[in-house]
Amino acid sequence: MALREIRVEGDPVLTKECKPVAKMTDRITELIGDMFDTMYENNGCGLAACQVGVLRQIFVVDIGDDHEYVFINPIITEKEGEVTDDEGCLSVPGYVGSVTRAQKIKIKAYDEELKPFEMEAEDFLARAIQHEYDHLHGHVYTEFVQGELRKAAAPEEEEAVPASAEEG
Ligand code: ZN
Repeated sequence: MALREIRVEGDPVLTKECKPVAKMTDRITELIGDMFDTMYENNGCGLAACQVGVLRQIFVVDIGDDHEYVFINPIITEKEGEVTDDEGCLSVPGYVGSVTRAQKIKIKAYDEELKPFEMEAEDFLARAIQHEYDHLHGHVYTEFVQGELRKAAAPEEEEAVPASAEEG
């Protein structure tokens, strides 16, 4: 298991167009494994290669439905409907914002063995895919947020610190 450093908004790597993958190599296989490790470690549900500083058209998604999705050189071919909901990004830690996305999409891509596949996705999975897809083309979701970015709810502390201890 290897964790990679997640680039945060303001890093120019997040604004660049990613290049297609021409063939699988050991380095790319390792990168994909590291992307899953890094995503899980940070409680994310999607991660694009550029977020760990690699400008390749690769992203991974796991929304907790028992699938580890890998998308290489993806193209979203159809979009249908609209849903507005909150999303966040590991490159913009601690914030959420409201974004309108297609409710349903069709996507063509290659898997981790560079075999082509096509799938449909709806709702949260479709949102996660559209978010990661944008990363491959240099876009961070904050560009599309309606209204203000908001602070994400802080995770509950395991042990409450008494007020007196803070003051003391
Ligand atoms: Zn993101």
